[in-house]
Amino acid sequence: MTGPKMTGPRMTGAKMHELVARLYPLCRSITGDGVRATLDVVGEHLPLTVHEVPTGTEVLDWTVPEEWNIRDAYIKDASGRRVVDFRRSNLHVVGYSVPISATMTLDELRPHLHTLPEQPELVPYRTSYYARTWGFCLSQNTLDAMGEGPYEVVIDSTLTAGHLTYAEHVVPGRSDDEIMISCHVCHPSLANDNLAGIAVAVALARSLDRPRHTYRFLFAPGTIGAITWLSRNRDRVGRIKHGLTLACAGDPGQLTYKRSRRDDAAIDRAALHVLKGRSHRVLPFSPYGYDERQFCSPGFDLPFGSLTRTPYAGYPEYHTSGDDLEFVTPAALADTLEALQQITGVLDGDRTYLNLSPYGEPQLGRRGLYGSLGGRSDTKQAQLAMLWVLNLSDGEHSLLDVAERSDLPFAALREAADALLAAGLVKETA
Ligand code: ZN
Repeated sequence: MTGPKMTGPRMTGAKMHELVARLYPLCRSITGDGVRATLDVVGEHLPLTVHEVPTGTEVLDWTVPEEWNIRDAYIKDASGRRVVDFRRSNLHVVGYSVPISATMTLDELRPHLHTLPEQPELVPYRTSYYARTWGFCLSQNTLDAMGEGPYEVVIDSTLTAGHLTYAEHVVPGRSDDEIMISCHVCHPSLANDNLAGIAVAVALARSLDRPRHTYRFLFAPGTIGAITWLSRNRDRVGRIKHGLTLACAGDPGQLTYKRSRRDDAAIDRAALHVLKGRSHRVLPFSPYGYDERQFCSPGFDLPFGSLTRTPYAGYPEYHTSGDDLEFVTPAALADTLEALQQITGVLDGDRTYLNLSPYGEPQLGRRGLYGSLGGRSDTKQAQLAMLWVLNLSDGEHSLLDVAERSDLPFAALREAADALLAAGLVKETA
């Protein structure tokens, strides 16, 4: 990895929110300059390797599509007023709309207009990647106020041979075994559904300092981006020992973990152990949602879970203009980051030990293992943690096993194991 060393002080919720706000206006899609501009901003925080994959490239059962770019779009009334204006919000244009320039009455326009009658003040988010069409998204209130026209209708877009763009950031670990964090980068002005995940991933990457695992961060458009990455990395996916898709990471709802297809992979157990101490939900695996769909497809069957707050399609603001900068809070971003760091902390810190004095309890006081803890408010827990580590360190149980069985926090067991190691009472098994 080249580039400046960017680990540093913890990124606060406010800093993550600033990053979300900076990315929010960009018009992202599954290809095009909005994705590149997004990766440029992420690249100010992390050195990125950016990949450009040409249109027409076969990727697994798919083909990289034409590249979409848009400069302007509007519906203008007879007085010249833009009734619907892409410049005000990029949600107003159906993603991947083909260009159009026409004069139309409202009736002619109607089949191309998308609204949310149940949420009349909100603008929906719609795309049409694989069927060539065009359209506008607007609030039901705006539509209700529109007269019969005629209207000047313009979408100044291009669909041409180009590239699909994605990026990776790798933090080398002491081992080649990888933890992979994947975020989609294809949604336009939606704050929680993808920008919050990007911000938390950036913050996690910046906080890592010589971790045990190698960390790979993937910033790629949903579905086609993950499929492209898998297609180009087929021979090396065996290095991925643990994976997570990260999305919807900044809404005020409780954390949600969706299990991997394997159901009880180490990532599943680590996430459940961490979340047990918090208000949370656990969902079973299903082949629907974010890019865990691709990573957990049966040919790959990678141990990928999904971490969100309120999950995919689970909140009224989902895929609407209500998913804005106010919907995402600094406190929620910070809380997601903290949970994610604890989960990766379990994966990085999990080891199996052998008790070298297994006949009766070893005398901890004689070795200074009680004294060293004196005065701490968590002394009792620390002692209990030592007793649990000693008891279950028979070479068969890892610290995560001990955490699950003892119901003690992983960090306390990790600390106990370090103290026992220093005292020569346990050794790491191969
Ligand atoms: Zn989405």
